[in-house]
Amino acid sequence: MGAENRPLHIFLFPFLAQGHLIPTIDMAKLFAARGVKATILSTPLNAPLISKSLPSFNPLIHIQTIHFPFAKVGFPQGFENMNSIPSPDLMLKFFEATTLLQEPLELVLQHSLPDCLVADMFFPWATHSAAKFGIPAIVFHGTGLFALCASECLRLNRPYDHVSSDSEPFVIPNFPCEITMTRSQVPDFLKFNEDNVVSRLLIASKESELTSYGVLVNSFYELEEDYADHYRTVLGRKSWHIGPLSLCNTKTEDKAVPQEHECFKWLDTKKPSSVVYVCFGSVTNFPESLLREIAIGLEASGQQFIWVVRKPKKDEQQQEEEWVPKGFEKRLEGKGLIIRGWAPQVKILEHEAVGAFVTHCGWNSTLESVCAGVPMVTWPVYAEQFYNEKLVSEVLKIGVPVGVTKWARVMGDDSIKWEAIEKAVNRGMQGEEAEEMRNRAEALALKARKAVEKGGTSYSDLNNLIQDLNERRRSLEEIEH
Ligand code: UDP
Repeated sequence: MGAENRPLHIFLFPFLAQGHLIPTIDMAKLFAARGVKATILSTPLNAPLISKSLPSFNPLIHIQTIHFPFAKVGFPQGFENMNSIPSPDLMLKFFEATTLLQEPLELVLQHSLPDCLVADMFFPWATHSAAKFGIPAIVFHGTGLFALCASECLRLNRPYDHVSSDSEPFVIPNFPCEITMTRSQVPDFLKFNEDNVVSRLLIASKESELTSYGVLVNSFYELEEDYADHYRTVLGRKSWHIGPLSLCNTKTEDKAVPQEHECFKWLDTKKPSSVVYVCFGSVTNFPESLLREIAIGLEASGQQFIWVVRKPKKDEQQQEEEWVPKGFEKRLEGKGLIIRGWAPQVKILEHEAVGAFVTHCGWNSTLESVCAGVPMVTWPVYAEQFYNEKLVSEVLKIGVPVGVTKWARVMGDDSIKWEAIEKAVNRGMQGEEAEEMRNRAEALALKARKAVEKGGTSYSDLNNLIQDLNERRRSLEEIEH
């Protein structure tokens, strides 16, 4: 088949965690909708998670499995996704095991020779692997442009080395606007010069932004204009912003979550903007003491709520659990709903009864809230979530901080008390400030939809990328002939 007939073929290689798989699945749908063949590379236990989120048949979307070499680093068998790691102590081993995916990746690249590899930021070595076979590699960070710029400006200038304490504020240097942070909010890998597998991967991923073909960003220009420009012109990255990716699920049957969930019947009985949705993503693992503060804070706020708790009930027979105040669930029946495990988040946020989102500021959650026009109560925990909080609360002004001061890995900052939660939830839900935030969030939701429609900024950026890759392939074929 000649180049003009054969669709472009892109390999997508997501990190093994829900927050990375979900936008990658959406990316595959987006490429396929433009006639590009998309193959998602993943491990045997992740493949069913991916396939259940895909339309039943699309000749342009494929999943290819590669072996997860857990045994080589002494990682227990059966855990191939960061969300199911049995203990936080195994986190570093998990990352170590993922670096061994390089060899199987190279075998499939050599065999299939795709036109492009989109590799997750946690696989920076993939840029080098792709180059071995003349394949352009694009980095997918899964975060926004504000965070990408902030973390690079901090890494290059290290302002936290020149403050006298963890709580002394400093301004992010050479940044498009004045944003103040403290050393305790900066990720450990930046401030401690740690030498572990995650720090090495994160530094290498920054470097691979420059050595790769470019960077794909799940964001849209109108949300982060100044930072999109800064990233391209000042930091010199070639980038395409093609988001919000979750908006590719326009048809109900394409949503990556089950449609029937008890919470929707419950939400249908509630007035518009009268329920606060509380969820901290797929990885955070709060201690019971913190869950208890959240329970007390929610009850004290008097607001109706849906609260997603990742903890299963210890014992199905057990009616009361230690971390909830006595009689909590019974007392709040009809007013508060606890979802244990996985919630259909995108659909919940889109429900008109939801008035605010208490979020850990993971980038997918943040964007999903923007797309639904829902203001946020921000509770960053780890990764780049403190930058996202700054964007939401100080730049876009669609969120109120709960007041977290410490970057704290997945266990969260346990100094947060129920009074702060009560106050922030009420600020996010009622009064003039909440109304103004809601109006701003709704205006951004409209802009997000426009960005992905034909002629919109994200739509055009994706066109530009596909055109670039087509031209590249054409010139290679001309050389060959
Ligand atoms: N999510 C969900 N249900 C849950 C928890 C999370 O659908 O109960 C989805 C959420 O909609 C988002 C992703 O999981 O798409 C979480 O990604 P994010 O970047 O917000 O946080 P992470 O889990 O990576 O910390």
